[in-house]
Amino acid sequence: MWTYHPDLLARPVPRYTSYPTAADFVDQVGETEYAEALDRMASATPLSLYVHIPYCDQICWYCGCNTGAANRKHRLTDYLTALRAEIAMVAKRLGGRGRVQHIAFGGGSPNAITPVDFVRLLDRIMTVFDCSRPEISIEIDPRTFTSEWALVLASSEVTRVSLGVQTFAPHIQAAIGRVQPLEQIEQAMMGLRMRGIEAINFDLMYGLPGQTLHDLNATLDETIRLAPSRIALFGYAHLPAMIPRQRRIDASNLPDDLARFAQAQFGYEKLTQAGYVPIGFDHFALPSDPLAAAARENRVNRNFQGFTHDGASTLLGFGASAISILPGLIVQNEKNAGPYRTLVSAGQLAATRGVAPGPEEAKRGDIINAILCRGRVTLDNKILPTARAALTKFERRGLLFWEDATLVLAEGAQPYARVIAAQFDGYRGSIQPHSGPASLHSAAPAC
Ligand code: SF4
Repeated sequence: MWTYHPDLLARPVPRYTSYPTAADFVDQVGETEYAEALDRMASATPLSLYVHIPYCDQICWYCGCNTGAANRKHRLTDYLTALRAEIAMVAKRLGGRGRVQHIAFGGGSPNAITPVDFVRLLDRIMTVFDCSRPEISIEIDPRTFTSEWALVLASSEVTRVSLGVQTFAPHIQAAIGRVQPLEQIEQAMMGLRMRGIEAINFDLMYGLPGQTLHDLNATLDETIRLAPSRIALFGYAHLPAMIPRQRRIDASNLPDDLARFAQAQFGYEKLTQAGYVPIGFDHFALPSDPLAAAARENRVNRNFQGFTHDGASTLLGFGASAISILPGLIVQNEKNAGPYRTLVSAGQLAATRGVAPGPEEAKRGDIINAILCRGRVTLDNKILPTARAALTKFERRGLLFWEDATLVLAEGAQPYARVIAAQFDGYRGSIQPHSGPASLHSAAPAC
């Protein structure tokens, strides 16, 4: 049972897909630092790769991702040329060091490119990197998914597919500019399963315009019937000043904060009662899924794709706006596709901003990660007294308790996990504030 404490949820906090967050990156860290970090990499370092396709066939009004319309063929062609060049450039710099365990294609919609282009892209990665049977995952827009895509994904040994579903309610689909009948999702799933791809994720949303508990219940009923192996249930963040395409959404029809809280709670209860294992604060996995196994073994991690069982500590991102995480460094590529292509075609690494976390920031990142992924963290004596004092208001309300020096999130604390973790954020929290630049402290919308 969750209890609503509006005062604790009043201040927006980041989703912490990294710490420091992208909102804290600075322009002074970029290409040079990325090159040095690549040069320092030890041989056989486990690697995860992320490939960003910032295009979609149809743009949804609610979307906060870095993506644009895929309607100009030459733009896509030029982008893919740059992407393949960037992949080759980084691989050459590594000179065979690093062993790829996981490759994720995201966007945007990776199926905005043609299946042939996808095969060429994957082939480039497999050729220039040391890959030994990596897990391969891809985000797919079901509206443009075809049987040809299912065949290509299966023959490329793609292991996991994420489908953007959001809601099955037709009136909400119309209100968010993403119309996709239930049959379309069913066909996509059938096509994937027929080709042997069983690991399927659904992205769902609550807090959408005109969405009621009844709507959410109906969407969850269909979801449970279709039985994807993982579900992410995100709250819609309406930020039209930052995301102009959201101005097409009628804000007068959005559920209020209390209704959003009730929807999140309803989703949590319904999915867990249906047998899904809760992961972190917004993911759910069938008990047979590797993410549920990782949760049982305390191996869940958090990266730009959300909660994951991927244990690689080095993530290399390719494409416009892609983020790379290496020991002591987080960098983001140039966000816009045009300038990104210019950098790559000039033979330069495309990282243009980032942060080089020192030991103190790394420690804070570990604490935040442990709270979000495992719901508990053991603190050392340096930080423990301040933390206990700063977290009193959460402790008094039964949202956390202490086992000696270990902070433990209580049952029902899921909606407050990010707020509790944010207390350890050196840029925003109350525990030993960091002297970082105040102008960079706003929370960025999650994609
Ligand atoms: S929600 Fe997905 S399909 Fe829609 S515009 Fe965003 S990235 Fe593209």
